[in-house]
Amino acid sequence: MKTFIKTVPNKYCQICKKNGLILYFSLSDKFFNNSGRWNILYCKKCKISWIDPIPINSDTGKLYPANYRTNINNGKIKRIFGNIKDRIVASILCYKFGYQYSADSLGLWNLLSKITIVKDYIGRRISWVEFKKNGKLLDIGCGTGGFIEEMKKLGWNVTGIEIDKKAANIAKLRVGSEFIINRQLKESNLLEASYDVITLLHVFEHLSQPIDTLKICLKLLKPDGKIVINTPNINSLGHILFKKNWMPLEVPRHFFLYSPKGLRECIESVNLEVQEMWTSTYISNFVWNTSIIIKRRGNLTNGRLPEPLSLSHKATSLLFKIIETILNIFVPVGEEVILIAKKKC
Ligand SMILES: [Zn+2]
Repeated sequence: MKTFIKTVPNKYCQICKKNGLILYFSLSDKFFNNSGRWNILYCKKCKISWIDPIPINSDTGKLYPANYRTNINNGKIKRIFGNIKDRIVASILCYKFGYQYSADSLGLWNLLSKITIVKDYIGRRISWVEFKKNGKLLDIGCGTGGFIEEMKKLGWNVTGIEIDKKAANIAKLRVGSEFIINRQLKESNLLEASYDVITLLHVFEHLSQPIDTLKICLKLLKPDGKIVINTPNINSLGHILFKKNWMPLEVPRHFFLYSPKGLRECIESVNLEVQEMWTSTYISNFVWNTSIIIKRRGNLTNGRLPEPLSLSHKATSLLFKIIETILNIFVPVGEEVILIAKKKC
């Protein structure tokens, strides 16, 4: 039976309040058995896109089945010691991000960490969060807590917010129940000006009020605090090629989709300033693999790929990643936007 979702119209841009233009008309949920037809609108000026109509707050839980990606026990970061690859990773996390691994003393790693793709792929393990002694980190939408579990081991004082009860319970087992809040951000009663870092990792696109969320983050951050966001890039090569079949459109769970410029507009509209921003090809294979199945079959049952993938499928996926990675050096066409922002002085 199809799940019925209550909605409200969502015609206006959250930044400039102007009427959105139609990008896609009458899309359906290509992963799960949710009812409804959804348009994607965009704002030419602010370069953001959003879903219309939008599910009402009390119905958003219905959009996520128990086997949704955030509820899978993932995010386990391998312990870092031993072989050469791990030593390279440890060196970069030490030189670039300040973590106290037993790093090689060769300056080569310091040099390597200045290359965006190296910083991107290796820094991902700690979500590009530079080490801070006794630092406080808030992860909004922490899922099952894999990321904060590792950050806690690396010396951070962590707090995770997760509205999904099942995922929050797993996170509590991992990091301790006192560090996990199973409530909405605005109902969390967190201490203002108390966090060094706030992370929103593939969460920003799921928020119905992204600007309001940023305003709350701004209050929670210390004066020198930072915010880290990663989210799909609607200006990616994948979206140009796959259009309405591009997997990260993911209606009706992705309420907003951003270009690098659009994400910057959001950040700057709330007195935060962008410190670093780049687009990444890290998830390009996943985006290609899933989008091509949606294009061929019209859906991706339960959001999962058929296994095993054919050799030709794997070959085209690799080719796509190589091409996108080369293009991404010159134009920001990677599948993900990564942004680090801080409070304006
Ligand atoms: Zn706008």
